[in-house]
Amino acid sequence: MSDAQSTEQSRGASALGRCLCTGVRFEVCGPLRPIVYCHCTLCRRASGHFAAATACAPEKLRLISAESLRWYPSSEGAQRGFCGTCGSQLFWKPAHGRHISIWAGALDSPTGLGSATHIFVADKGDYYEITDGLPQWPQWPQPTQSSSPRR
Ligand SMILES: [Zn+2]
Ligand SMILES: [Zn+2]
Repeated sequence: MSDAQSTEQSRGASALGRCLCTGVRFEVCGPLRPIVYCHCTLCRRASGHFAAATACAPEKLRLISAESLRWYPSSEGAQRGFCGTCGSQLFWKPAHGRHISIWAGALDSPTGLGSATHIFVADKGDYYEITDGLPQWPQWPQPTQSSSPRR
């Protein structure tokens, strides 16, 4: 890949993102999921607060520059992608491979994204309240008819 190509945004990219130092730059050429807020202890430690993540199909994510991208296996089921130079949190990649989560703060504005729900609120910090009225799930959302989110 030439430098000219590697710095060029593809036609039809629906979102662009990068880390602080621009060592990692990426684009998404496909639909992005509404934002899910994750309050699990792993996300809170890794990000410094709680995570705001969109997601896309893995094949829709294209890395424009990945020279400083590092992956950390934060659990058996997933790896976290971050910039090894500036420390920006960027991705969460589950082993099942059905999607890849993208930290919403890494995206260029405007994202056009809305917010969907809060997950792992059972693990949330004691120093903030969730007051936006969105559905709250103790852990993963349970999309069965018999259960409903805690509000
Ligand atoms: Zn960086
Ligand atoms: Zn989490």
